[in-house]
Amino acid sequence: MTSNRPPAFFVGEHLALDFLNTTATPQGTQVEWLGDGKDLVDWLEQAGSIEPAAAARIRDSGSDALDEVARQAREFRRWLRGFVTARMGEPLRATAAAVAPLNELLARDRSFQRVEVAGRDADDGRRPLLRRVRRWESSEELLEPIAEAAADLICHQDFRLIRSCGGSACTLVFLDRTKAHTRRWCSMAVCGNRAKAAAHRARRGAE
Ligand SMILES: [Zn+2]
Repeated sequence: MTSNRPPAFFVGEHLALDFLNTTATPQGTQVEWLGDGKDLVDWLEQAGSIEPAAAARIRDSGSDALDEVARQAREFRRWLRGFVTARMGEPLRATAAAVAPLNELLARDRSFQRVEVAGRDADDGRRPLLRRVRRWESSEELLEPIAEAAADLICHQDFRLIRSCGGSACTLVFLDRTKAHTRRWCSMAVCGNRAKAAAHRARRGAE
């Protein structure tokens, strides 16, 4: 992919929304952050969904199979975008048929849970933590953390708080986790300031 591509956006406040934001038009031109298999591994590593060692191993396997997984990820993203944008801003209602593509992907999951205790001393009284782990034996597993995030978004998050950025022509979406639920922009630096400058220009023009 192009080397002058800006870094991917992580402004969604939820992995599934960050995933939707892997295609966007930040400067008026469409950017694709999941163009091929290597892109997908890079993004999952940046998102903290795959450990660097496993990411490197899968990246090195760099094959057509990996690019095919990226194609499936883009296809799933198209489905998820349709699902989310049709329902965001109000309490979620869905039918079994509407979530079928997600369940298909979830059914492939080979992850397992592990009880992890930080520290080596068995008697140090640390609280064990339940963690989901993956073997990363095949590149197809790259779709699983994405499916898991989508399932969490649909079952555990408040769709009333999912919004797209108020910037004109900005397609980024986010979960508004602010206390007063007043978030309007993907980021102040990108769209917030641009809107403020435009409002300022409009006010000056009216004087
Ligand atoms: Zn924006």
